[in-house]
Amino acid sequence: MEFVVAVDGPAGSGKGTVTKIVGKREKLVYIDTGAMYRCVTLDMLRKNIGLEDIEKIKEVLENINIEFKEENGQNTVYLNGENVTKEIRENEVNQMVSQVSHLVEVRKNITNLSRKVAEGKQVIMEGRDIGTNVFPNADIKIYLDATSEERAKRRYNQNKEKGINIPYEEILENIKFRDNNDKTSPVAPLKQAEDAIYIDSSNMTIEEVANKIIEIIKEKKNTL
Ligand code: C5P
Repeated sequence: MEFVVAVDGPAGSGKGTVTKIVGKREKLVYIDTGAMYRCVTLDMLRKNIGLEDIEKIKEVLENINIEFKEENGQNTVYLNGENVTKEIRENEVNQMVSQVSHLVEVRKNITNLSRKVAEGKQVIMEGRDIGTNVFPNADIKIYLDATSEERAKRRYNQNKEKGINIPYEEILENIKFRDNNDKTSPVAPLKQAEDAIYIDSSNMTIEEVANKIIEIIKEKKNTL
């Protein structure tokens, strides 16, 4: 039986970390849709394709192969057979991904791909428009939020752990830029679905947020 938990929210709201934990504990397949947009962006950057070059972007989309694998307990992302888990988090990608994700062709393609990878499975999917657009009938919708300063701090620490060195100010600026871009996008803007449960994680630990979501899942499953 298909079961979908949709987790949406802005950059650095804790979506990624929390969703991974909940997925593992509740045995749900974890799907990171942001990583898919990042793969398209990285492929374009490597091939020197600009945002206006729609024909070339279509070619990228036709030939792209994105895979999620679990290796030694770590979630890894493969782009056309290459492990790009680290590369898709680099600054160049951060700066362009928002614009790439707003291109209608890209959006359509990744939305279809997201639905396809979830088909018939029990999944927890994180993104910006999962509850509003990709799975409007999701069993559970969560909208995870936090202040922009708190989100920038988290991203900074997360990067440091991964050996990525980007100054805090730069991250904060990028987060604000992406928030604005995502919320004002003409296609599938970031917004809370009417029936989503709102969680402000600014003053919560990761464990607390994860436990709250697990509680919601358990309650829902009891009614099925
Ligand atoms: O979640 P993450 O920060 O990795 O996502 C990267 C970018 O991809 C976001 O800033 C947003 O522009 C885009 N995105 C989107 N829709 C999703 C997931 C991500 O537009 N469902």
